[in-house]
Amino acid sequence: RKYDPYRPSTNVFDLITRDAKALCQELMPNPEEETRKLALLERLSDIATEVFGEAEVLPFGSSGNGLALANADMDVCVFLNSKEGSAEEQVSPVEFVERIGDRLEKDNEFENILQLKRARVPIVKLNHVNGIACDIGYQNDLAIWNTRLLRAYCRIDTRVRDVVVIIKTWAKRRKINNPYAGSLSSYAYVLLVIHVLQRRGVLPNLQSIVVGNGKIPYWDCQGFNRYFFEDIPNLARYWQPTPEAMKQSVGELLYEFFRYFASEFRYTTHVVSIRSGGLLTKEAKEWSKDHTQPQQQQHQRQQPQTLQPQTSTVDSPALTDEQPAADSKPVVKNRYLFCIEDPFELDHNVGRPVDRYSLFTIRGEFMRAAKILSRNGEGAISRLCYERE
Ligand code: ATP
Ligand code: MG
Repeated sequence: RKYDPYRPSTNVFDLITRDAKALCQELMPNPEEETRKLALLERLSDIATEVFGEAEVLPFGSSGNGLALANADMDVCVFLNSKEGSAEEQVSPVEFVERIGDRLEKDNEFENILQLKRARVPIVKLNHVNGIACDIGYQNDLAIWNTRLLRAYCRIDTRVRDVVVIIKTWAKRRKINNPYAGSLSSYAYVLLVIHVLQRRGVLPNLQSIVVGNGKIPYWDCQGFNRYFFEDIPNLARYWQPTPEAMKQSVGELLYEFFRYFASEFRYTTHVVSIRSGGLLTKEAKEWSKDHTQPQQQQHQRQQPQTLQPQTSTVDSPALTDEQPAADSKPVVKNRYLFCIEDPFELDHNVGRPVDRYSLFTIRGEFMRAAKILSRNGEGAISRLCYERE
């Protein structure tokens, strides 16, 4: 480990850990909320079946990976079982959004229904009168698998959830958790946390653990390899944390997370890759050149420093990085300023919404956070998560 002159002492870490754990406890969704989500899931399942015949509705994202905060949105995905499988019977994503969106409009149980047909992944957004905001996607197997991967990492060690919950809360309160406005999705932050925990020896690389002594199997999902070691109760046979990793407290891991992205990670050359258990280079991935659309469109965002949500009713980013105008053509906006490789979709940069203004803001927040945690343990967590206006 590199020498770090700002590294706080153990008793500072203990105070941070104590407060972090208390906040996590406070932010747990309550059983009543879970019940409302389950009821909505069932209702959507009935509606999807009514519209399309046989349909299955599965939760993904934080409602499926154990990383939900209280009052989190629900992400669900609809799968149609078209047994005949003939081309005519296939419903396109846009058609899906239209048909289910129009059906939901007829029910006054649902409010603020938005059909995002031109997003990278078309979805319907809505609010249910019972208070749950929901994103409905379509036939997205990869989303189900990356949810399962995150859940598996979460089950390895209780510290994972604690660190993730604090990072998500910090990002939301500091207004840097909105891909529509150039910052990162919760999914991206979770990948960053896993990366740091892999580096500290707290987590393994589940995508490289193989049962037996063969090579990594190829399990196809939409053209990508979805294989990972999922048998967490038997993980100890294949991998164990280092004694040093076992000792690290939640406070210490939080500090490490912020310190790493404030001063160690090299934004100009590196790519975060949990799939390879470490770093890759932009050059090796051919992620050096930005494939951006013309200037005028790119700068339609608001002021660079204040990343306010562009939609006030629904702000769950889930699967859509950008929210183009309803009548515009889908746009390709591949930026490579903050490079975070998707664990399965290897050509997808999860940090794609980040532009140079938002990168400045996000890095500023990493530095602010590292500074707060390096000073004084007492009150650090509440200062860290102080709501930015
Ligand atoms: P929150 O509680 O803040 O809603 P979340 O865990 O649900 O957090 P989201 O960012 O809403 O995280 O993402 C939900 C799911 O959508 C992820 O688990 C992932 O499957 C998918 N997803 C989100 N953003 C991306 C992205 N940029 N690329 C690929 N998949 C994504
Ligand atoms: Mg979500």
